[in-house]
Amino acid sequence: MSRIQPTKRYQCFIGGRWCEPASGQHFESIDPFLGKPWALIPRCDGRDVDAAVAAARTALERGEWASMHPSRRGQLLRRLGELIARDADRLASVEVQDNGKLYAEMRGQLSYLPQWFHYFGGLADKIEGSVIPIDKQDMFTFTSYEPVGVVAAITPWNSPLMLATWKLAPALAAGCTIVIKPSEFTSASTLELMKLVEEAGFPAGVLNVVTGFGAEIGEPLTSHPGVDKIAFTGGEESGRHVAHNAAQNFKRLTLELGGKSAQLVFPDADLDKSVKGVISGIFAATGQTCIAGSRLLIHESIHDEFLDKFIALAGTARMGDPMSMETQVGPITTQRQFQRILTCIEMARAEGAECVMGGRPATRPECADGWFVEPTVFMNVSNSMRIAQEEVFGPVLSVIRFREDDEAYAMANDTPYGLGAGVWTTDQRRAFTAAKRLRAGTVWTNTYRSVSYMAPFGGFKNSGIGRESGQEAIYEYLETKCVWMSYEKDVPNPFVMR
Ligand code: NDP
Repeated sequence: MSRIQPTKRYQCFIGGRWCEPASGQHFESIDPFLGKPWALIPRCDGRDVDAAVAAARTALERGEWASMHPSRRGQLLRRLGELIARDADRLASVEVQDNGKLYAEMRGQLSYLPQWFHYFGGLADKIEGSVIPIDKQDMFTFTSYEPVGVVAAITPWNSPLMLATWKLAPALAAGCTIVIKPSEFTSASTLELMKLVEEAGFPAGVLNVVTGFGAEIGEPLTSHPGVDKIAFTGGEESGRHVAHNAAQNFKRLTLELGGKSAQLVFPDADLDKSVKGVISGIFAATGQTCIAGSRLLIHESIHDEFLDKFIALAGTARMGDPMSMETQVGPITTQRQFQRILTCIEMARAEGAECVMGGRPATRPECADGWFVEPTVFMNVSNSMRIAQEEVFGPVLSVIRFREDDEAYAMANDTPYGLGAGVWTTDQRRAFTAAKRLRAGTVWTNTYRSVSYMAPFGGFKNSGIGRESGQEAIYEYLETKCVWMSYEKDVPNPFVMR
């Protein structure tokens, strides 16, 4: 775990070759802890997008990948998983430097990410169609699955390697080819991953990476007629825009968007456990997660006791250099996001919410020149306030009281989002009722933030369309084909539909 010095210069990866962008230009990627550039990223444009889509289309339709048996595709995926495990340290360091994620978290993430490649590698040759016992005479009807085609995978800055993995593993298992566009702020780890893709032996053009700005390459990529499917993770506004582009030629679409997830703490909850769970939901990854449990809905009878315990424990969080294994809360990844969080904090104050912890940039010496925000808690929030309705994407918790269970469920569901929800209770009946009543893609009970390669993940309402991970994720990258074969002696009356 060491910082890379001096500035590292990357190339893009198109058609199995490392190449300069057509523009000949690079832009700087900033280390969020040092606040200084550490890498130069290729500034691709529409010409690079055209080249990458053409390479992906060729690999899809001709050559080794197009005719490769799914079992062999599975082997390649598993090999990639092994290489990621081997290089976990290096990949973790790159992500920490580019993104400011904690080294401790990245080590955990990278020891787990290979499982996605193992799981979907195993699934690649187990996708079976079915024979339909069709209601027609002398007819044999069956279904089969085919790759959806060329996939544009677009990832955000908050968890670049993990969110790319959630798309790549099922897409590759399905036999698709891919053009990845990582966030302009955090492209380095995806480019590093391509070195392992090469080493694993994937044929040229199966995976391509173009880097640059949303408007310059995201736009041509999502409106490209050669792209069959878009798998997008990012903000709601960009998601809406991408969906509009996809609609022009009805590209298939998966959207993983934002959230305003509620954590519901009932009077019978184990307070110590729930305090830890709520802290992890909002302050882990510095709150820069789509599943941040940014609204705490707490029963009025335990409000004061819970908050005392919460503030006492959260106050011990160590901030500082994300490379240090001791650090618990790292910097905000981008200066733009840092400013946005501070604007949201001011907005909450102006709305009348009461700040009882943090509420300002962190100026502790160990935070040096990084973009740090103190873990922040607002109480006396009402669910209709903007701070309770809009995604902050930072370490800011809104505390809202409730009296009745029904009131808690109603408030939990009363946002445009539906990504996650946390339930803290020791009453089994309440746990099942809450799981049923909450309109969210994931409901965690007496735990929070667990994800797995085996479990589908995605959102209700404005939090997205489709699911990643779990068996159903592979079907997001497949088209169903239905084949009818007649063995009748004659073709019946041609003017009557059968
Ligand atoms: P953005 O929506 O700004 O960006 C996401 C990606 O889309 C980036 O690669 C971005 O490129 C690209 N992009 C931007 N504009 C366009 C465009 N016009 N056409 C195509 N691509 C475009 O989100 P952030 O990167 O700021 O990420 C944070 C957001 O992601 C949060 O709102 C969060 O909720 C959401 N998120 C959702 C998750 C989920 O699973 N539901 C998981 C993680 C994050 P560039 O960076 O170059 O602008």
